[in-house]
Amino acid sequence: MQQRDEHVRTWYGLEAEITVTEANLHRVALPSLSLPHPGVVNWFARQGLDVDTRLALTARHEFGHLQTLPVPLLHLLLLLWPRRGRPRLTGRLRFWLILLTHQTLWEAAAETYVVATDRRAVTAPRPRWARGLYALFWGCMTAFSILGTIRLLQRDQSAR
Ligand SMILES: [Zn+2]
Repeated sequence: MQQRDEHVRTWYGLEAEITVTEANLHRVALPSLSLPHPGVVNWFARQGLDVDTRLALTARHEFGHLQTLPVPLLHLLLLLWPRRGRPRLTGRLRFWLILLTHQTLWEAAAETYVVATDRRAVTAPRPRWARGLYALFWGCMTAFSILGTIRLLQRDQSAR
């Protein structure tokens, strides 16, 4: 089983060890924290690619999460910032939508980093159906994060 290890350093100085495997079990280790996780998004986005390209782009995606960390943090701040008016969406539903919107935005940000820094994400040969899956990944992540953000920012104007 192939595996790829990378030592990375983010633009804001964070160092990490990234391990990705053919079996789609990945690990991002920071000096004080290890985050092993199954690569659900990467499994989806890398269909149809050869093993070398798949592992390289998967490692790049994990690094992309670290590189773009300020994006989801600022987005979270925007959602949680106290504002005038009662939010349209409240309670448990609001909590889960914040979590999901936060996650889909971060996936889109990490993958934008991949596309911007490694052209193989879009140019590497892969079957048509796999290109379709990749397009679907983009569509879902982008649509969900935009629509979720709009819904969460809506305020009830009548309640004053
Ligand atoms: Zn991801």
